Amino acid sequence: MGVKRVMVFDTTLRDGEQTPGVNFNAKDKFEIAYQLAKLGVDVIEAGFPAASNGDFEAVKNIADHIKGVTIAAMGRAVKEDIDRVSSALKNAEKSRLHVFIATSDIHLQYKLKMTRDEVLKKAVEMVKYARGKFDEIEFSAEDASRTDWDFLVKVFSEVIDAGAHIINVPDTVGYAMPREYGELIRYIRNNVPNIDGVIISAHCHNDLGLAVANSLSAIENGATQVEVTVNGIGERAGNAAMEEVIMALNTRKDYFGLVHGINTKEIYNTSKLVSELTGIKLQPNKAVVGANAFRHQSGIHQHGVINNRLTYEIMRPEDIGVVPDTFALGKLSGRNAFELKVRQLGYNLSPGEISEAFRKFKDLADRKKTIVEEDIRFVVEETIEEFRSFREGEAWA
Ligand SMILES: [Zn+2]
Repeated sequence: MGVKRVMVFDTTLRDGEQTPGVNFNAKDKFEIAYQLAKLGVDVIEAGFPAASNGDFEAVKNIADHIKGVTIAAMGRAVKEDIDRVSSALKNAEKSRLHVFIATSDIHLQYKLKMTRDEVLKKAVEMVKYARGKFDEIEFSAEDASRTDWDFLVKVFSEVIDAGAHIINVPDTVGYAMPREYGELIRYIRNNVPNIDGVIISAHCHNDLGLAVANSLSAIENGATQVEVTVNGIGERAGNAAMEEVIMALNTRKDYFGLVHGINTKEIYNTSKLVSELTGIKLQPNKAVVGANAFRHQSGIHQHGVINNRLTYEIMRPEDIGVVPDTFALGKLSGRNAFELKVRQLGYNLSPGEISEAFRKFKDLADRKKTIVEEDIRFVVEETIEEFRSFREGEAWA
């Protein structure tokens, strides 16, 4: 095989919906699912059908109408949940059950009140029960990162025998460190005897701000599916942010050497849609999609970027689908258009300053194909600065 491919499993509509205060209606979910298909994700986790009738209908609506992408839905390791998922996904072009049970001792003891043997038996039984009802079965060992590694290997190897196609290794509570999580993925790959042909999936939470780092570490160590949400929304501090994982893989293609199916030019639109429908505004310094992600404040940086963007920009706004903030201004623009734009940007320049700024602008337009708002601001502020220091010089003379 040639270049390795990473599958993108988007769980904005399931884990993302577990964001405190977020509650999508069926229409919101459909709109987001439609956009996710356009973005090019491999799998859309549409919801948790056993949770409510509303969510059942929302998942069914997506499975009925959105094609060309695998539709997944989550259920606990109980027959009723699996049956609900099965009927919600009945018309999916490609269906995937995402079934989970906790495997860490702390969850076994305090939540499930089950022994390891009981959990193992239940997991195998439910995967067998689900076999044949779905195109694919994904099994999640909840709290995997805090589970005894050898027990985890045992659970995975038995659920694979029972019919699981994908095994998910969630860092449910955002506890793992990048190297440690990578080592766990590698340990599973090297020790689960029947792992060949099975997809290993990473699912990371951001409690310590490490969800993206952990996901990338998993990919480096053999995970071939990554579970993400748009804008990193999700339970508590959220999940690994789709846009950050993808742009890391793209920007550092030289390092990862991997491909994926995401059309990065749809990233910005997707991010905006999810932000609107959740009502969650992005922090300005959010990586990749924040309002400041491509703004340069320091004069030294601005100067560098104007001469050659590569000096301080590792990605281009166009790569994620931001339409560059160009005005109709270019090297053919006249002084009036320029003056108007400067006023619109909130500057009030003297005639002398305008003349000088305009001269600088023409000079820049000769060298640079697209003039963006930041360029105009730069030219104007540089001019103001020069005039001010000149006046100060006069005062001292
Ligand atoms: Zn999660």
